[in-house]
Amino acid sequence: MANLLLLEDDPAIASTVVFALQREGYGVTHCTLLRDARSQMAAQTFDALVLDIGLPDGSGLDLCSQVRKAGHTPVLMLSARGEELDRVLGLELGADDYMTKPFSPRELVARVRALLRRSSIPAVSTTHAPSFFIVDTAGQRISLHGQTLDLTRLEYGLLAQLLKARSRILSREALLNAIWGQDAESTDRTVDTHIKTLRAKLRAIDSSREFITTHRGMGYSIAL
Ligand code: CA
Repeated sequence: MANLLLLEDDPAIASTVVFALQREGYGVTHCTLLRDARSQMAAQTFDALVLDIGLPDGSGLDLCSQVRKAGHTPVLMLSARGEELDRVLGLELGADDYMTKPFSPRELVARVRALLRRSSIPAVSTTHAPSFFIVDTAGQRISLHGQTLDLTRLEYGLLAQLLKARSRILSREALLNAIWGQDAESTDRTVDTHIKTLRAKLRAIDSSREFITTHRGMGYSIAL
């Protein structure tokens, strides 16, 4: 199960978040100071980081930008202020998601789960890169013919899964489980709807062909 770092100096928020994450089965290391978070990160590997911005010994944004330079660990930023500036800065510095206090622990857990799921989609390595698509896992972006696609999170997930499968057929069920999770209240129709919008976006860049093929009764595949 995933190992998480929570950096949060507010004891009430921290205990609620730790409780909610542990109940999900995640391992959580909680720190209240940047200094302690840095030493924990030197000592162990974390699958995702949840970082408060305002801390007694500095800003969580500094740690976020440091982490982003070092690798691809997903980062969720927390802010008490809810200022647009923090949000913009956090995302510019490479945070994957952002939440403003007060938030529900349940929502935080859902966001963390989504981050972990997305980060487990490996990048298509450059050496085996399909000729038309390039996946930038860290940036959660996919480009077609060198043009970045403007995708929703779910469309990104779908396309990344299809590309990862190379030209194999993926069933709707497999796509649902990979992207929405087993507990989602989604149906095959959900997949079809997002495939439809995804196709339209691909067509907007290249209308000369249909990249995604529907296999009746089986699922979808993508032409690389
Ligand atoms: Ca704080």
